[in-house]
Amino acid sequence: MSGPTKDDILATLSRITDPAKGTDIVSAKMVSGLVVKNGAVGFALEVDPARGAALEPLRKAAEDAVKGMDGVTSVTAVLTAHSDTPGSAPPPTAAAAPKGPPPNLGLAKEGDKPIPTSKDTGPIEGIDRIIAVGSGKGGVGKSTVSANIALALAAQGKKVGLLDADVYGPSQPRMLGVSGRPSTPDGKTILPLRNYGVTVMSMGFMLEDDQSVVWRGPMLMSALQQMLRQVQWGKLDYLIVDLPPGTGDVQLTLSQKTQVDGAVIVSTPQDVALIDAKKAIDMFTKLNVPLLGMIENMSTYICPNCDHEAHIFGHGGAKKEAGTLGIPFLGEIPLDIDIRTSSDGGTPIVVGKPKSPQAARFRDIAAAIIDATTKVPA
Ligand code: ADP
Repeated sequence: MSGPTKDDILATLSRITDPAKGTDIVSAKMVSGLVVKNGAVGFALEVDPARGAALEPLRKAAEDAVKGMDGVTSVTAVLTAHSDTPGSAPPPTAAAAPKGPPPNLGLAKEGDKPIPTSKDTGPIEGIDRIIAVGSGKGGVGKSTVSANIALALAAQGKKVGLLDADVYGPSQPRMLGVSGRPSTPDGKTILPLRNYGVTVMSMGFMLEDDQSVVWRGPMLMSALQQMLRQVQWGKLDYLIVDLPPGTGDVQLTLSQKTQVDGAVIVSTPQDVALIDAKKAIDMFTKLNVPLLGMIENMSTYICPNCDHEAHIFGHGGAKKEAGTLGIPFLGEIPLDIDIRTSSDGGTPIVVGKPKSPQAARFRDIAAAIIDATTKVPA
C-alpha cells in the first residue's frame, strides 16, 4: 500500500503557522522525527516547554491537517521540549549527521595505554538530574526501557539526554533511529545527535563499525568521563544513562565521578534475572545512589489473536522482590511484539504508537520518575 511521502506531509505542515512566531512550523524547524509508513504518520513538534499547554491547539491543527490528506490512515503528533544548547549550534539531527570515521578525541582503543582520567567529579553543568538505568543480566530489555523512558519524559515536556554507556552492546543509535557520527567542531567537545526531541550520545558512535570493545577498566573510565563532560549536552532536566548489565567499572565510575540522582533497575520476573538484579541493587546502595525503583519487563504476554494472557517468564517476581527489599515498584511492561519491532525499527513504541497501552505504561513510569526526583522546595 502506498501513501503520502515525507515531502508531501512537510508540504501540508508548512501551511500551519505558529502564531507566536509568525512563521510556519516547518520553516521554524519545529517538526522532528517524522515517520511515515503505509499511511500511518507520526511526528513531534519541538516547543519551548514553558509554552507547552498553550501550543496544544497548534499540535491539533497540525495533526488534523495531516489527517485530512489522501492516503493517511492515522496520525500521531506529540509536543516535545526543544533543544537548548546555550552558546553552541544545535546538535545535528539524524539526517544531517556526518558519516565517516569516529571523531578522534583520543578515546581509548584496544592496545592503547590508559588515558589519564579527568579529575572532575562534581555535577555536570547544565544537567539537572542523572538517572542510571541498570540491570543484573543482559537482554532483559534495559535499553528498550531506557529509550522509552527518555522519550516519555520528553513527551511530558522535559529536556532529555540519553547516554548509551552500554559499551558491550550499544543499541541506542539503532533504537532511536540515529545514524552517522557526532561531530567535534574543536577536537575537544562533541556535538551529540538528536531525534524525537531527545539528545543522544553513545559509546557506539565512537567505534568503527563492527569493532569489538575490549576496553579495560581505566579506558572505560576515561571514555565515560568524556561522554559525560566533553559532550555538549546543553541544558537538560534529565540525563538517562543506559548502563551495561552487571556491576562493573562503568557503574562504579559513573557513581563516583558525578552525582547520580537515582537508579532504576530493570528485571524480568524470572528468579535468575532477579538474583542478578539484587546484586545491582546492592551495588547502588553501597555507592549511595538512591534507588528509584524496579521495573518488571516481559511481565505478561497477551496473545494478539485470542487475548489469552500467558506468563512466559513468570509474573510478579520483580514486584515481590521490590516489596521485600523495601524499594518502590515502578511498573510492569508486557512482552509484546510491537515493543520489539518498534525499537528494532528505530521508532520506540512511545513515539511509534503513543496511543497504545504499552506506551501509556512507559509514560506512567516516567511520571513516577518525575515525582520521585522533583525536589520539594525547602
Ligand atoms: P538489554 O539492554 O537489557 O540487553 P534490550 O533492550 O536490548 O536488552 O532488549 C533485548 C531484546 O528484547 C531486543 O530485541 C528488544 O527489542 C526485546 N525486548 C525488550 N523488551 C521487550 C518487551 N517488553 N517485549 C518484547 N520484546 C522486548
